[in-house]
Parts: sequence; structure tokens; C-alpha cells
Amino acid sequence: MSALPSARQSQAAIRLQGLEKIYAGGKRALDGVSLSIPRGSMFGLLGPNGAGKSTLINILAGLVMKTAGTAEVWGFDIDVNPRNAKASLGVVPQELLFDAFFTPFETLELQAGLFGVPKASRQTMELLRKVRLDDKAHAYSRTLSGGMKRRLLIAKALVHNPPVVILDEPTAGVDIELRQMLWAYVRELHAAGTTVVLTTHYLEEAEALCDRIAIVNHGRIVIDTDTPSLLSQAREKRVVVVLQDDISVVPAIEGAMRVELLDPRRLDILYDKAQVQAGAILAGLAAAGLCVVDVTTREADLEDVFLQLTGAAT
Ligand code: ADP
Repeated sequence: MSALPSARQSQAAIRLQGLEKIYAGGKRALDGVSLSIPRGSMFGLLGPNGAGKSTLINILAGLVMKTAGTAEVWGFDIDVNPRNAKASLGVVPQELLFDAFFTPFETLELQAGLFGVPKASRQTMELLRKVRLDDKAHAYSRTLSGGMKRRLLIAKALVHNPPVVILDEPTAGVDIELRQMLWAYVRELHAAGTTVVLTTHYLEEAEALCDRIAIVNHGRIVIDTDTPSLLSQAREKRVVVVLQDDISVVPAIEGAMRVELLDPRRLDILYDKAQVQAGAILAGLAAAGLCVVDVTTREADLEDVFLQLTGAAT
């Protein structure tokens, strides 16, 4: 954890108030975002493409100028105390951008220099060990695999030991093995006291890692709550039944929100679990003269909530 003093006793790792961004050309990417990310949390920022997530991150990273509102990192206002705000934040970008002719060791040393970390307090080899790149310390970056580059980006965001780290789509396009490794590493980072914010469009990733989730849509926060409460908002439940005989017409089932014929013997039925129970759905099938030979039900997951709140496919 960083030894940086806090500007004031704010409990938030990141606090945004009325944050607005209108790009030249008139696109309103952020439309009054107010958000408080608690210290010590593992926070998921979700939203469909174009929702405004990158704009938000880039404002915090000092890469995009906001149009209105305020933003604080670790209690430091990005306008009033830009240096401290910057020093409190590490951002792991999405793109794998490196100077191909630097080695991982040199890349980290340069970054430490940029952040004014004195030579004596640099932990370059230690960081490389943490992301399991110590054996590549002196290889050219261009010889690293995609997964290694991604790990190097994480190390690069940590050279100044910031208390808050934002990972932008950390596992986009990586294979399952690397995803597991990155998840383990992110959990380790969080367990060591770092506040972790991640954007992802893999909802199972947010569900697995994050204790709190905010969903952004059209530049606004549509929900900000702890993960279990968010999941409990999923009202829809699905039951798939296998029928004894083929049918060709979708039957009307009392209490169902949607009935779909998957194949002549399988029906996919969506219902609101707050309104009806599975038993009533099965009774409705019997009333329609259908004989059911097998049933599977599925609880709604984060994807269902996401769809409910944004109307966007993931
Ligand atoms: P996300 O990261 O959630 O996909 P972005 O923050 O990249 O969303 O984009 C939000 C909106 O702002 C989108 O409509 C996008 O087209 C627009 N946008 C992003 N960057 C720029 C820019 N530099 N100039 C103009 N419009 C932009």
C-alpha cells in the first residue's frame, strides 16, 4: 500500500461529482456522472460499447479534459492536486503499446523515472517477479507474447505503488489460462490492500471478481450497488422443458413472459420469479395439453440484469 498521505479523510478511493464530457463535435460522452468508489473495494465498471467508460478512465488518468464536474483520486482533486491525484493512480490500458526496443526491465525503470520514484526505492525486479516476467527482464519487448505484454503493462502501472489501480478490459482477447492467471494476480493485488477498479464486458468476470458494480449507459450511471444486490435484481428466470411429442406452434402459457420453441420438442420459457413459480408454469403446460419429460431451470445472472438495465447485448 502507498505511503501517500490523503488530502482529507475521504473514505472514497475515487469520487466523481457531476462529471461531464462533451467532445469537440458535440458528442456528450459523460452526462453528469456521480460515483463513489470505496477504498479497498474491487469495483467493476460495466457498460456497453460507447457507454463512456474509457472517457471516464482517461479523465482520471489526465488524458482527457473534462467539460464539467469534479473528480478526486484518494482524496486529491485532479484540478487542485493533479500531481498527488496522478501519483495515487495506476492505469493499465487496453492497448498493448510498448517501445519494441526496450526490455521489460528498462520499460519499468523509465516509467519509475517518469513518476519520480527515486532509484533506491524502485522495485523493478521484484515487480517483474510478481508478474512472472523476471526471466524476460532483459529481452526486447517485441519478443514477448501477448500475455507477457499484458503482464508487463500491469507491472508498469504499479511502479509508483499507487493505492488505486484501474484495469481497462484486462482480459479482453486473452485465452482462458492467462485469464485465470490475471484474475489470480488481480485478487492478490486487492488482498494486499490496493483498491482495484476494472472495466470489463465479460460479465462473469465482474461477477467473479468484483464486490461492487456500477453500470454505465449513455454516459450515465444506471446502477451502483454491491454485486449480490445487483444479482438479486434479476427478476427473470428461465425454464427449458423437453416435451414428449413434437409441436409446431408455440403454446400460450399463463404467467410466462416469453415462450420460444428451441426445437420441436424443447420450449424455452422466461418468467418473472416475483410473479409466478415454476410449478405454475408446469401447470400451464399441462393445461395446454403438453406432456413434459424433462425440466431445467436457470437463475438469471449478471447478463440478464445488464440487459434489463441497458437493453444492450454483450
Ligand atoms: P466506452 O469506453 O464505454 O466504449 P467511450 O468513452 O470510448 O466509451 O466513448 C463514449 C462516447 O464518446 C462514444 O459515443 C464515442 O464514440 C465518443 N468518443 C470517444 N472518444 C471520442 C473522441 N475523441 N472524440 C469524439 N467522440 C468520442
